[in-house]
Amino acid sequence: MKIGVVGCAGRMGRTNLAEVLDTTDVTLAGAVEQMNTGIVGRDAGELVDRPGSGVAVGNDPVPLFAQADAVIDFTAPAATVEHAKLAAQAKTVLVVGTTGLSHDQAEEIHKAGRHAPIVWAANMSVGVTLLTVLAEQVGAALGESFDAEILEMHHGGKKDAPSGTALSLGRSVAAGRGQDFDSVAKLSREGQTGERPVGEIGFATLRGGDVVGEHSLTFAGAGERVTLGHVAQTRQIFARGALRAARWAQGQAPGVYSMRDVLGIGG
Ligand code: NAD
Repeated sequence: MKIGVVGCAGRMGRTNLAEVLDTTDVTLAGAVEQMNTGIVGRDAGELVDRPGSGVAVGNDPVPLFAQADAVIDFTAPAATVEHAKLAAQAKTVLVVGTTGLSHDQAEEIHKAGRHAPIVWAANMSVGVTLLTVLAEQVGAALGESFDAEILEMHHGGKKDAPSGTALSLGRSVAAGRGQDFDSVAKLSREGQTGERPVGEIGFATLRGGDVVGEHSLTFAGAGERVTLGHVAQTRQIFARGALRAARWAQGQAPGVYSMRDVLGIGG
């Protein structure tokens, strides 16, 4: 299978590149970055301390989508929308890890999904995918009398908050409780906030250092708390998941799929 990586200079782009180069039954179809990163023209292997791959980093995604079986995209919201349109035109599998998309940008991904198989998940790890299932089940079992609060921490370079993973955990709790997420989500708090409404799903964000990603979901009831959590110790867990998603999506009908679909857990 021929895999392309867009945004290959980024933290996740480099991790995806290394994962593709280290995996024997897939080949690197191409790697694309923005000109201002200073790496266009360099060998993709050298970028991640691997032997020369014979693939020079390009800055035009169009030929990449034409020649790859799947493209892995962990970039930025506007770039991901453009990549989704290219995937739709070329009917190429797209694996999207990008977070922080607006409602309109998300709609564009769903439009592209009418023409090509797209796997889109805020977190490609096995552990967090399982956690979303548990969040839904625990939310359903405990109901609104247990206050749901989500705390996340990431490195200081992260551009969106709360994290896409935190939001997807919140959506899972809301789904389990039969709530409309947007009506009950409290994405941050400060000042005279008033009392916490029953049924609210609260978020708190920490940023700093080189933290890959940590999430905890607390259900606080009268006299007891239940806490579920996940710690990402390496970005490789996301890259492994992305490659697994690319393999799984090959041959699927057009559509937007989740990591739950890829791993076959949680319905
Ligand atoms: P980063 O800023 O280190 O990397 C982003 C890269 O995308 C940069 O190198 C940038 O130059 C490149 N880029 C931006 N626009 C581009 C374009 N038009 N064409 C080509 N390249 C372009 O960020 P990161 O830490 O690697 O994270 C990237 C995204 O992935 C974020 O949205 C983050 O939240 C998300 N993420 C998802 C998962 C997951 O499992 N789904 C895990 C980690 C990070």
